Amino acid sequence: MESYNTIIIGAGASGLFLAKNLAEKNIKTLVIEKMESPAKKLLITGGGMCNLTRDNKTHEFLTHYGNSRGFLGPSFANFSPQDTKNWFEKRGLKLITREDKKIFPKVKNANAVLTLLLDSKYDLLTKYKIEKIEKQNNSFIIDNNYKSKNLIIATGGMSYPSTGSSGDGYNYAKLFKHTIVEPRAALASFKILNEDVSQIEGISLKNVSISFTNYFTKKNKTIYNTDDLIFTKIGISGPLILDVSKYATSEQSIFLDTNTKIVKEENNKQLSTSIKNQTQLPSRLINYILKKLEINDDISKNISNKNINKINELLKRWEFKISLKGQLKKGMSTEGGINLKEINKKTLESKLCENLYFCGEILDFSGDCGGYNLQACWSTAFTISKNINQDS
Ligand SMILES: Cc1cc2nc3c(=O)[nH]c(=O)nc-3n(C[C@H](O)[C@H](O)[C@H](O)COP(=O)(O)OP(=O)(O)OC[C@H]3O[C@@H](n4cnc5c(N)ncnc54)[C@H](O)[C@@H]3O)c2cc1C
Repeated sequence: MESYNTIIIGAGASGLFLAKNLAEKNIKTLVIEKMESPAKKLLITGGGMCNLTRDNKTHEFLTHYGNSRGFLGPSFANFSPQDTKNWFEKRGLKLITREDKKIFPKVKNANAVLTLLLDSKYDLLTKYKIEKIEKQNNSFIIDNNYKSKNLIIATGGMSYPSTGSSGDGYNYAKLFKHTIVEPRAALASFKILNEDVSQIEGISLKNVSISFTNYFTKKNKTIYNTDDLIFTKIGISGPLILDVSKYATSEQSIFLDTNTKIVKEENNKQLSTSIKNQTQLPSRLINYILKKLEINDDISKNISNKNINKINELLKRWEFKISLKGQLKKGMSTEGGINLKEINKKTLESKLCENLYFCGEILDFSGDCGGYNLQACWSTAFTISKNINQDS
């Protein structure tokens, strides 16, 4: 049986970053990956360009993880977004920061990040299907083939299962009595159930506000957010929706406020022209709204106050019944996962099993869209590497 100091299950962003850091400390490490090649998800991040972090201060950064910010705080104290920049640049990867603060490799190719994380100083076993994990006399044993002092589960969440992250790690964690917060879609689009929005597919709106009840908080708190959205063939997406999707239940009502309204004009203008001038909404959307509200008025002098009110009510509080069914696999991240109460947030070691650790998306957190999720992978992985030494 081959013996290691540390075995990492999962060669994704967090697993490889940890392996690289351990290798630099000369710690004998094995990474086990079930797919034929490592980091399939990392390679599709940021449209293949890899938005690996962003240029925000740590305290602001942490506001983008909802209720998990307290848990992630110590990891960010160990390894901040600035540390990420320095870490990659020190190892020869040139980075660029866009106006929106997102940071990418200058070559705009996620492959450059993967190449940097791969290192012959640690062993990487691909296409390996684990049959059995046991703990005997302070050692973790995998299939009677590999043995280690420390075991790290870095198998990701459940989104994009074709990349390898299909939830296996939850079952490994259960072997050590960990509980799993039910995985739900995050960074996902909503399907709309009560309207056929295919006619307005592709229309995007700036600075729209959303509100809905978050049934996951005990107080049924209302979620508010303002950002841009886009109508898809079957629903809505865009930054506004992706960032709040983790708070939505599978089916519920959401309310959009377009933050515009119209007032009655005295001159003779077509109603749709009048709305367009006042709200800047695209004509296709205005015609859709007029049809939906069954308003046929053509000339402004004919518009009844009642119809003006009807339009304004819709622009202020447009109710959509949404569904997230089937979106767990399609979302860009997973909310839910290993119960954070069972993990020491300073070391990321299990409170239930000594020398067992978790990093990355398998943990019950998910960040907003735009570099937050990879940063959490780097920070949690680095925190573990800080805790593991030759003799630990
Ligand atoms: C389309 C898309 C775009 C994204 N873009 C960005 C972005 O630009 N910026 C950003 O910050 N975040 C982005 N994300 C999110 C980001 O990719 C994830 O947060 C990150 O990859 C999670 O890393 P991880 O190491 O925790 O898990 P993963 O990257 O999912 O890696 C887990 C690894 O474990 C392996 N594995 C699973 N089970 C087993 C097993 N039983 N045995 C062995 N190996 C196993 C998997 O095959 C996989 O290789 C994006 C996600 C998607 C889907």
